[in-house]
Amino acid sequence: MKTSIIAVGTELLFGQTVNTNASYLSDNLNHMGFDVMYHFVVGDNPERLRAKIREAFADTDLVLLTGGLGPTQDDLTKEIVAEEMGADLYLDEKALAHLKSFFDKHGRHMAENNLKQAYLPIGCTPLYNESGTAPGFALEKDGKVAVCFPGPPREMKWLWENGARSYLEGFMDKKMYYRVIRTIGIGESDLEMLLMPLIDGQTDPTIATYAKEGECTFRIASQRDTMEEAEQAVREMTEKVTDLVGDFIYSFDDEELNEVVVHKLKEKNLTVASAESATAGMFASCIADVPGASDVMHSAFVTYSNESKIKNVGVPAEIIEKYGAVSPETAVAMAKGARDAVGSDIGISVTGYAGPDADPGHEAGEAYIGYAYGSDSGFCSINTSRNMRNWNRGYFTLRMLRTVYLLIK
Ligand code: ATP
Ligand code: MG
Repeated sequence: MKTSIIAVGTELLFGQTVNTNASYLSDNLNHMGFDVMYHFVVGDNPERLRAKIREAFADTDLVLLTGGLGPTQDDLTKEIVAEEMGADLYLDEKALAHLKSFFDKHGRHMAENNLKQAYLPIGCTPLYNESGTAPGFALEKDGKVAVCFPGPPREMKWLWENGARSYLEGFMDKKMYYRVIRTIGIGESDLEMLLMPLIDGQTDPTIATYAKEGECTFRIASQRDTMEEAEQAVREMTEKVTDLVGDFIYSFDDEELNEVVVHKLKEKNLTVASAESATAGMFASCIADVPGASDVMHSAFVTYSNESKIKNVGVPAEIIEKYGAVSPETAVAMAKGARDAVGSDIGISVTGYAGPDADPGHEAGEAYIGYAYGSDSGFCSINTSRNMRNWNRGYFTLRMLRTVYLLIK
């Protein structure tokens, strides 16, 4: 079903408020199999809102609107949607009762203009709002459907979860199943190239690739008459993509890399210690983001200065002198040193130039990840060629996670 989203509110045009409602709804609608074709943003202006509603209905059958259901004079969404779809308003007793009890409960006086919120278009499906005052509603006419939500994101989500989603499921004759697969170590265009034989000419399941910061994700989706058929189709396609790009896949279930790393370490009963220079603890922090980190994270050293590298994780001063603080040799010595200092199973390290500046003969974005695990030790070289400090630090962290992942997968 072709779908548009109209976000109403002048504050969205001023840039004061980010239109998160549209991305939330779009994401959810896409996952259900609706084709979202347009996002519109319009201020609290009746004529422009009317024009956008007409434009949206000219091209699409389902229009979701957020915002402008409030009690004030400039909240006009309901009135205009009702007019456009030829419905008068009526006083909805249940909405009125809810409104009254809402004000009672909060010990507040209900102003006259709040009454406005208890009116709904005749013939609509009300979406009663237990997380706020303004009810939403869905209205159908001649195969066209409008669904209106209040603007506050918390209320909009509440109504989506409690009524709107199940209402919209009624319009899907097919069942949608999808899976999000995550990869690291390959760029989006290379990934797409490898998957091209499968992407080309496929209508169902579909494969769509997305680039995220430093990694790539793709989604395999199928829409069939039954959920079992859709799942089966996605399963078969998953096997085919695994044959082609399996080496780069780290999750078949849309998990983050830090989650996968913590779970694997736990499964294998391993602990890790880190020595971080350029990232100054970001690796350790990413591990700590995952519940259960205490079972696998032994220690974390932030060894920013040469002195700290020598003192805290036992990097021989000669190595730094001979090869430099940013070098494969120093990275490996940091990893071994962190592990040996505390007796963890794995040592992991990073030393590099986050930028924007680097020492002569070096570039921002150059870094080395060192690792030590049993008798195995080594490094990987990174050169992002970017002088964006925080981007580099995030990327180095991701590569540290990947290095640990590859050691234990
Ligand atoms: P209210 O009863 O609060 O007036 P309303 O339905 O009239 O509800 P708005 O006045 O449009 O909603 O917006 C209320 C709040 O929600 C504001 O803080 C606004 O910034 C936020 N908001 C509105 N639309 C969006 C949107 N599309 N994305 C994110 N936030 C939004
Ligand atoms: Mg308002």
